[in-house]
Amino acid sequence: MKALYGSTSDEIETFVIAQGLPKYRAAQILDWIYQKNVLAWDEIKNLPKDALQKLSGEIRLTALEPGEEKKAVAGGPTKFLFKTPDGHFLESVLISQKDAPDSREGEETIPQGRRETVCVSTQLGCKIQCAFCASGQGKFTRNLTAGEIVEQVARISRMTGKKITNVVFMGMGEPLDNYEATLKAVRILIEPWGFAFGARRVTVSTSGITPKILEFVKAVDGRVRLSVSLHSSIDEVRSSLVPINQRYPLKELVSALRRINQDLKREITFEYTLIAGVNDSDEEAEGIAMIAKPLRAKINVIPYNPIAEFPHKAPTPEATERFCDQLERRGLRVTLRQTVGRDIDAACGQLRLDRMSAR
Ligand code: SF4
Repeated sequence: MKALYGSTSDEIETFVIAQGLPKYRAAQILDWIYQKNVLAWDEIKNLPKDALQKLSGEIRLTALEPGEEKKAVAGGPTKFLFKTPDGHFLESVLISQKDAPDSREGEETIPQGRRETVCVSTQLGCKIQCAFCASGQGKFTRNLTAGEIVEQVARISRMTGKKITNVVFMGMGEPLDNYEATLKAVRILIEPWGFAFGARRVTVSTSGITPKILEFVKAVDGRVRLSVSLHSSIDEVRSSLVPINQRYPLKELVSALRRINQDLKREITFEYTLIAGVNDSDEEAEGIAMIAKPLRAKINVIPYNPIAEFPHKAPTPEATERFCDQLERRGLRVTLRQTVGRDIDAACGQLRLDRMSAR
């Protein structure tokens, strides 16, 4: 245990007992770090001074260094930059939505105007190297720890004074390529002794590491939301955009999603970055319908946001509208999302920094 942030209830209990403190102190510490988001030992008010001194001499409380925030256009998302203890930087985003278009999430109702979503990073860099994503082009440095993942949520809440309602694993990195830390972070976010988020308010996004998807969904008992980056219904095109498709082609991915859908009756969302002349054909619309309809999956269409280093072009608003119409005509539920990454120098080039736009 390198920092208390990122520890489970059992781990903190073991640690507290090893320090000669009564077991109930663990519950107090958990409450302070995950419910009250304290970031310094001296902010913990109900532990005796000598106990605090002893504990702080043994272990760091936080896994990250203080961060800075960079605001985008008015009403848009805010990017946060945090430093790891070994001197690397990672980015997270807060997306504030005044009018939540989907005000019911599972059994929970989100009051209008109160959706505050933190988009967390899970790796420093990314090995998947999607053809349109800035994060995939840089050097992969390392996986983040569970503490470094969940602390992004606590720090943003503290820095903004906002109560965070949703967490999406859509920042830098492929969450399922950092499987253990992602799973641990998800547990800390949804367990009652942790942040206690409703499980349906936590979404894990993946580029499609099929065996890990099955393992992850089983491990969380299908409770958290799953979002899959589709980007094409044609293997050749998808492989050129999301290279992991060469290893886990569409047939394999779709069959795994069908199992999840049938066994756990859980809804799946597809992310679809729309690129002019690459994946915006009628053939694609038909292919998406073939994949998504049996799964009753929702499609988030994200118009490509041009990046200087990449040759791809953004679709025109008319072409985007037409493509969404093609999907809707085939009976699919479609949400058009707008990337605003350009405004704030986004972490994960395309998918990641988006905000809902009423369609
Ligand atoms: S889109 Fe996601 S999975 Fe693909 S390279 Fe970027 S961070 Fe990695």
